[in-house]
Amino acid sequence: MDKAQDREKRSLRGIVPENHPRRDSILVRERLVEAMEEDVVVPQGLIAQGRGECFDYLIGEQTRDFAKKAIRYAALLLVKARNPVISVNGNVAALVPREVVELSKAIPAKLEVNLFYRDEKRERAIAKVLREAGAQEVLGVGENASETIQELFSERRRVSKEGIFSADVVLVALEDGDRTEALTKMGKKVIAIDLNPLSRTSMKATVTITDNIIRAIPALKNEVINVKKMREEEIMEIVQNYDNKDTLREAMKYISRRLDQLSLDL
Ligand code: ATP
Ligand code: MG
Repeated sequence: MDKAQDREKRSLRGIVPENHPRRDSILVRERLVEAMEEDVVVPQGLIAQGRGECFDYLIGEQTRDFAKKAIRYAALLLVKARNPVISVNGNVAALVPREVVELSKAIPAKLEVNLFYRDEKRERAIAKVLREAGAQEVLGVGENASETIQELFSERRRVSKEGIFSADVVLVALEDGDRTEALTKMGKKVIAIDLNPLSRTSMKATVTITDNIIRAIPALKNEVINVKKMREEEIMEIVQNYDNKDTLREAMKYISRRLDQLSLDL
């Protein structure tokens, strides 16, 4: 059986009933498995998604107020940045390729492939996905990732000189705690999209968006468009009132209150 036939056989699209309560989630999993077969996602990416799904369950699979607040501030940082860069890994390319390209155009920001498990074949596969989704330039592939983040060791520290290395604002998703910390130590503002408010990434980022990338990236694009129309006084108010620890506290309290309520409703 060739790869296409195998995929056809496994394809859940026609098998999962339209009214299956977990249909969307099952189809997202299927999309990641397909992306793994195309060398875009690594097996560890599937595990990361599983961890994310767990937290998505806890927040009720919706963009909550704490995430909306973070998205608004993140949009502002991206619009005001000198050199904003969106870091793209396998899961991002598999789940929101078109949306991430649209976001980069709305800001405008550069796109850079940046992988935890670096491998040129995968870098090229991800860059291809992004180009097919409309990206004109994709940084971080092969020799382009020639600069190093001093705090990190091994291949994980390679970044693009005109991209993440010289960026003042970097958007990351499903990122590792060490790398987030290294970027903030370099003086960069880091916007993290991470469903787990307890992860080291969530704690170390300048702005943490506790939401699923599938919802957060399109919401961020809409906010970028809104922020561009704002008056300076409105912008100052957002900047002065934002505190990432408060936002994380709100996310944690929300989960705790929600579980309390659900336990009463049983
Ligand atoms: P850290 O090193 O920051 O403590 P970790 O080791 O738990 O984090 P990784 O496995 O390195 O995390 O990265 C995956 C992170 O991305 C997890 O915190 C997970 O909740 C989050 N995540 C997974 N899928 C999604 C998604 N679709 N949208 C948003 N976040 C997600
Ligand atoms: Mg980690």
